[in-house]
Amino acid sequence: MRNPAPAPKLKKTSREKVLAKCICGAVELEIDFPAFWAWHDHSKPSRRAHGCAYVTYIGTWKSRFRVKKGAKSIRRFDDEDAKGMRSFCAVCGTPLTYERARSPKWVNIPRALFETRTGREPRYHVALDESPEWSYLGAKLVPLKGYPGVMWERPKQKRRRESDGGF
Ligand SMILES: [Zn+2]
Repeated sequence: MRNPAPAPKLKKTSREKVLAKCICGAVELEIDFPAFWAWHDHSKPSRRAHGCAYVTYIGTWKSRFRVKKGAKSIRRFDDEDAKGMRSFCAVCGTPLTYERARSPKWVNIPRALFETRTGREPRYHVALDESPEWSYLGAKLVPLKGYPGVMWERPKQKRRRESDGGF
């Protein structure tokens, strides 16, 4: 009688995963760690879709992305003008994904949906020339007297008064 063949070793599937959630918790997304990259998107379509000055995304391959919970709560919006597809939670409105037609294998997820590290720092700025004039770009801030926790940007002073003479 032959010896029984050794049991095949199970391939270890120990890929670390990180979780993203919408505000209400109806939808949970998951990516394999680490994300491929992270970036700040200053484009007008993203600004409007999120209602803020700019959006910070992490990007990854769709093959490393999964909807873990709440697929039926996800609604899609095909943005034909910007050639992209966005999705959001139908319950709470949280933006979930942003896919661009020119990058069909990629998906972008707002960085803010992750409560843990994603493996990438956002070091890239896209469409900075579309940034609105009211966007905060790192100007010096000082505490606002009488309002703890509020900082403000002093109005710009004229660099040269007429009385300064000039030429
Ligand atoms: Zn939600």
